[in-house]
Amino acid sequence: MHKHHSALGLASSLRPVDPVTLIRPHAAHRAARFFIEKFAGTTMYAVKANPSPALICRLWESGITHYDVASANEVRLVRGLLPHATLCFMNPVKPEEVIREAYHVHGVRAFSLDNQEELDKILRATDYAKDLTLCVRLRVSSDHSKLSLSSKFGIDPNASASLLMAARQASDALGICFHVGSQAMSPVAYIQALGLVRDAIVQAGVTVDVIDVGGGFPSVYPDLEPQALENYFHAIHEAYEALPISYSAELWAEPGRALSAEYSSIMVRVERRRGNELYINDGAYGALFDAAHLNWRFPVRLLRDKPSDARLLDFSFYGPTCDDMDYMAGPFSLPADVAVGDYIEIGMLGAYGNAMRTDFNGFKMGPTLIADDQPMASLYDDENDLRRTIAIR
Ligand SMILES: *Cc1c(COP(=O)(O)O)cnc(C)c1O
Repeated sequence: MHKHHSALGLASSLRPVDPVTLIRPHAAHRAARFFIEKFAGTTMYAVKANPSPALICRLWESGITHYDVASANEVRLVRGLLPHATLCFMNPVKPEEVIREAYHVHGVRAFSLDNQEELDKILRATDYAKDLTLCVRLRVSSDHSKLSLSSKFGIDPNASASLLMAARQASDALGICFHVGSQAMSPVAYIQALGLVRDAIVQAGVTVDVIDVGGGFPSVYPDLEPQALENYFHAIHEAYEALPISYSAELWAEPGRALSAEYSSIMVRVERRRGNELYINDGAYGALFDAAHLNWRFPVRLLRDKPSDARLLDFSFYGPTCDDMDYMAGPFSLPADVAVGDYIEIGMLGAYGNAMRTDFNGFKMGPTLIADDQPMASLYDDENDLRRTIAIR
């Protein structure tokens, strides 16, 4: 096999029939190092964003030691790959049997919860263990985020005192956690949430050992260009320092998207053009669920040896299945002369792209190949302002 270095090189030399996943391990490494060096706490990777074993191992090698897992299979997966990692079970509703396995077989000690029944479950399943870190999940606003996580989980901070006291009694370390929603477009989301945390601590009068600000850290997409991540960290550090907690307390974060978005993209082929609609070989049932169902716009570029000098035009995409819903409205900007047989790279799909794939209608992902060129956009580019200019139109 040849060693290819860029998306373009792969497209022109291999001319693959099936969609290809392009992975960029160097981009995951860069994101991990950024969090480790600039976030003044523990960075935990939220595995659901992308459970690819190669990515999990790359993050571990880059220094990420903590993993947020939410199901029996995620616990088994990460424990199987990383015997020495710290796993935190941050799904507030879990089957009792799974809690038991996580604690007794896989060494999980940290669990989240948002109700008394779950606390009872955790205590029974761990045989009333004395070494638990119990994180009470507060409900906070998702107003600043592209994707809400405020309805399903979390106890109302104003009604959380008795649960906090009960969890305090049952735990070795008491934590408070929340999630501001995914792709939070402003650091204000975290400042407001930490304000609610402060009120809850004061009302309950408990000693808190862990403040977990959850995920929500953004990546960069067309139309969704956030401020620098340093601004988020700075806002969180300030609000955290003002909390009534002991000096030995710990700050945690659970980024999923921010650590994985730049890790992979897909390379698709155009199978038909109908006006401004392109029929491509991956779609809503593949890596493009968010593009179809949330109308998420991902950056795109035409992979042609001789770059097109045609003007840019807005296109929408149809995926390969026989289903009208397999449609991505975009708009996706591509040269006006794009044609059947052309290859397109769709970028920033490392988070919630491949994780959501199905084999519906018999369409499976093709090979995974390593590219060592740059992702189509980056929040971690060393030359600061370059990130605003790459491939984002
Ligand atoms: C999904 C999820 C995350 C990761 O969220 P991102 O927006 O991808 O950073 C972190 N923590 C919990 C509890 C989650 O459910």
